[in-house]
Amino acid sequence: MFNFLKQVGDYAKDAAQAAKYIGQGLSVTFDHMQRRPVTVQYPYEKLIPSERYRGRIHYEFDKCISCEVCVRVCPINLPIVDWEFDKTTKKKKLNHYSIDFGVCIFCGNCVEYCPTNCLSMTEEYELAAYDRHELNYDSVALGRLPYKVTQDPMVTPLREFAYLPKGEMDPHDLPPDAQRAGKRPEELVAELKRTTVPAQPES
Ligand code: SF4
Ligand code: SF4
Repeated sequence: MFNFLKQVGDYAKDAAQAAKYIGQGLSVTFDHMQRRPVTVQYPYEKLIPSERYRGRIHYEFDKCISCEVCVRVCPINLPIVDWEFDKTTKKKKLNHYSIDFGVCIFCGNCVEYCPTNCLSMTEEYELAAYDRHELNYDSVALGRLPYKVTQDPMVTPLREFAYLPKGEMDPHDLPPDAQRAGKRPEELVAELKRTTVPAQPES
């Protein structure tokens, strides 16, 4: 009799435990049913990268002076600047320039320190290739005008989640003038200028 009661007690305990776990699982499900979808229907929809996104590097051959600053500031000395000294003009003559995006860490140092601003970071992030050697971009590939999500007629551009109004999780059907959460960089700069006390001239 005692054994039977113990078995019933254990069974009831297991059933209660199972019901608790099922309830916990379903509570997560119900919680997600309340939320708005945050998925992007890639590649038909794409997020617009932020203003300071560090994507594929754009390079302007004509502005490059072969100074190799980009190589020296690169943490892995990645850019290849192939130049020769032209004895007639007594200047460096640039032959080739290349960056291997299979190795680049997109830190932006080369762009930051280039004295002629011939390097810039684009918002291009789709660099996938079947062969890793295809990621080694020469000056022609680097000079290609960057792809822009907003200029592709086949794609519906969506604003980045970080730029959505507070509490908004769905970028679909938002009016273009909807105020995003937080302040824009230019608003922060204007605020800083307003609050900075001008230096007093020395008498
Ligand atoms: S730093 Fe700029 S100008 Fe100098 S070699 Fe690199 S890309 Fe050319
Ligand atoms: S982004 Fe950084 S890692 Fe890539 S080439 Fe420039 S300096 Fe080197």
